[in-house]
Amino acid sequence: MAQSVWGYDSDNGPDHWHENYPMAKGDKQSPIEINSKDVRHDNSLGPWHASYDPGAAKTILNNGRTCRVVFDDMFDRSVLRGGPLTGAYRLRQLHLHWGSSDDHGSEHVIDGVKYAAELHMVHWNPKHGNFAGALKQPDGVAVVGIFLKVGKTPKPEMKRILEEIDNIKTKGKEAPFQHFDPSILFPKSRDYWTYHGSFTTPPCEECITWILLREPIEVSSDQMAKLRTLSKTGENEPVKPLVDNWRPLQPVKGRIVRASFK
Ligand SMILES: [Zn+2]
Repeated sequence: MAQSVWGYDSDNGPDHWHENYPMAKGDKQSPIEINSKDVRHDNSLGPWHASYDPGAAKTILNNGRTCRVVFDDMFDRSVLRGGPLTGAYRLRQLHLHWGSSDDHGSEHVIDGVKYAAELHMVHWNPKHGNFAGALKQPDGVAVVGIFLKVGKTPKPEMKRILEEIDNIKTKGKEAPFQHFDPSILFPKSRDYWTYHGSFTTPPCEECITWILLREPIEVSSDQMAKLRTLSKTGENEPVKPLVDNWRPLQPVKGRIVRASFK
C-alpha cells in the first residue's frame, strides 16, 4: 500500500492501514462498541459546553475520504470545555462517516446498533502549541461524536452542509463555507459516554478523549442519499461513490467507558 493512498477499499482499507501506520494496531484504538452493561456511570463527569463563533467557519471540502468543514483555529475562537476535559479545546474541523445504505455507516456501535452516519467535531488542546503537537499527547484532542439516525423529522440544520454537496462533488473540490454555527447540530440532550481512544483514520494517533452523545440527531433518507452522491475520485475520473468510509470496531483492551448519565 503506497503511503498516500489509504482508503476504504479492499486493497487499501482498514485491514491494511497498519502496514504503513503501525499505530493502527495499538492498544487504544477507535471506534469501539459501547455496551450499556459495561459502562460505568461517573457522577464526577460534569456537563460539557461549546462556545462556537460562526465567523470561524472557513471552507467545506471533499478529500476523497470524507466531507470536511474547516474552522479557523489560530486562537481560542470556537472552543469546547467541561465534561471530561481540562481547559478549553479549539474546534479545528468537522467531518462525517457514512454507509452505502441507511442501516449502517456509524463507526461507534451502541449495544449492537449501527446508525446511518457519525459526525465528528475535532478539537485540540492549545497547551501543546499546535495541532501537530497535540496529536502526540494523550490529552491532545477531544472529539464530539454525534450519531445520525434516519427518521421522520430530519434535522433542518444539516441542510447547510448538504446544499454545498453539489459544489464539492469530486475529490479535491473545496468551497467557501462561512457564517456557520456548528452547535446547531447538537441534539437536545447533552448526555454522553467518554473513553480514551484514537483517530479512526491513519495514522490513528491515540490522543483522543471521545465524547459520544447519547441522543442521535435525525436526518432523512433523502439527506443520506445526497451525501452518497459525493465521489471519491477526481473531476476527470469515472465517478466512484464516496460511501462506507467507516472503520470497523477495534478491540476494547480493558478500557472503561464512562457515562455522564444513569
Ligand atoms: Zn472521524
